[in-house]
Amino acid sequence: MSMNSQGRPTRAVADAAKDAAPTLTGNRALQIEEPLIFEFGHFSGAGVDLPEPRGEVAPGERDRLGGLGRAGDIGLPGLSEPEAMRHFVRLSQKNYAIDMGPFPLGSCTMKHNPRLNEKMARLPGFADLHPLTPQVAAQGALELIDTLAWWLKELTGMPAVAMSPKAGAHGELCGMMSIRAAIDARGEGDTRTRVLAPESAHGTNPATAVQCGFKVEGIPADASGRVDLEAFRAKLGPDIAGIMVTNPNTCGLFERDIRSIADAVHEAGGYFYCDGANFNAIAGKVRPGDLGVDAMHINLHKTFSTPHGGGGPGSGPTVLSAALAPYAPIPHVVVEDGVYHLVETRRAAKAEGGDSVESFGRLTAFHGQMGMFVRALSYMMSHGVDGVRQAAEDAVLNANYVLARLKTEMTAAFDGYCMHEALFDDRFLKGTGVETIDFAKAMIDEGYHPMTMYFPLVVHGAMLIEPTESESRRELDLFCDALLSLARRAKAGEVDGFKAAPVFAPRRRLDETAAARKPVLRWTPPAPRQAAE
Ligand SMILES: *Cc1c(COP(=O)(O)O)cnc(C)c1O
Repeated sequence: MSMNSQGRPTRAVADAAKDAAPTLTGNRALQIEEPLIFEFGHFSGAGVDLPEPRGEVAPGERDRLGGLGRAGDIGLPGLSEPEAMRHFVRLSQKNYAIDMGPFPLGSCTMKHNPRLNEKMARLPGFADLHPLTPQVAAQGALELIDTLAWWLKELTGMPAVAMSPKAGAHGELCGMMSIRAAIDARGEGDTRTRVLAPESAHGTNPATAVQCGFKVEGIPADASGRVDLEAFRAKLGPDIAGIMVTNPNTCGLFERDIRSIADAVHEAGGYFYCDGANFNAIAGKVRPGDLGVDAMHINLHKTFSTPHGGGGPGSGPTVLSAALAPYAPIPHVVVEDGVYHLVETRRAAKAEGGDSVESFGRLTAFHGQMGMFVRALSYMMSHGVDGVRQAAEDAVLNANYVLARLKTEMTAAFDGYCMHEALFDDRFLKGTGVETIDFAKAMIDEGYHPMTMYFPLVVHGAMLIEPTESESRRELDLFCDALLSLARRAKAGEVDGFKAAPVFAPRRRLDETAAARKPVLRWTPPAPRQAAE
């Protein structure tokens, strides 16, 4: 018996996999094999008692289904209540979660979600409020939206914010639709057709610009991983609608020339969209409004906890400059004599005369993601402005700690310090036969969710690690030890182990490309088995 690096008795990975006899059930201790719900559910099973249907339509009685009544079984998998509970609990235990361990996905800001947020979001006055509740009876909720809006404007130094976008990408759409409306209002809709975006941009940036009818042109990165200023200036012209820049960028670096970039775009008559998904690195330190930003979405579900929306919806409020505020979407909250109400139509917005006088319209039903608003405000108020600033500083400190430790065996993509995430490329794997994907799969056997892989596209075989501020030194050390040991094993020629990984996961390697390109969305019953001859 050998000891693992934490001094606990263990067996080497290869032995354990080799020696393990298959079990009759397919289960491996607490790792329970679980079939698809369709494979074991049966139409006759049910978790509820329903009254017997009254039967056929009596002669002379009107068929209220207009003849559309079902002729046969619906084919849904019926389960008893305990069967349903076990099925979903077993599936959930195959999942990885931020509450189980570090989740180093770069750009996703997978930080701890304080339980206080959940307690606040579950207060019945917020959780059970129907979106059609009369506004007089929803004053607390409207005040909460307004207070959160105030914090967002304060933190960003921007005069207006649209609260309704329901994710980062939706916030981008909000910002780019505002830019489109402003350009159309200037009568330049046909001439200002180009949007610039760095080649390291998140895929949603170019997708959004195209959705709003613009042509997108990439700007290359310079040797330091930032926007190449010369290349950028060369692309400016009277047909520029705007630029979309992420800051800190997706290489985890602060764009130092951001003011000159903003000024140059403004001089050319365009607008500056900033992708604010990485606001976690600078909240409380830098106000995007001071950098010349015209529009920026804030991923509440990254910067202000509840990563990935807690598996549910996210929220992407978009702050707007004075130039774009008139085009903001409806609805928005206003307060008069201490009473809150929602401006819900374009006509009302025009009459009201504030932000959104020339509103481009509505982005979504109702008012935005109320549950996320409550969580984000709870996070902000419990941290206070000093706490928000410290969270940003600690996020940067943690990322630099990881960068400093890992670059002894792995290759940092760029020189110098990073912001909130550390970017590596695959040069350290050169000649080993191990690729970025194999490295990531081997991390799963060590019990880690892999980092963001192959993004950003500007470095080869990218591995982007964002530890966030909520990991302790102890967690970071164990994580770094695991990655350093993998890097050494790769260099020592253990390529077969990497190609076989993951060996401890319930499933080995899946064809992820085929799953994305040709998803099988419908389950078809297997052909009946041939009787043995
Ligand atoms: C997460 C992210 C987005 C998109 O946000 P969603 O809420 O996932 O739509 C856009 N840009 C960057 C840089 C991101 O990290």
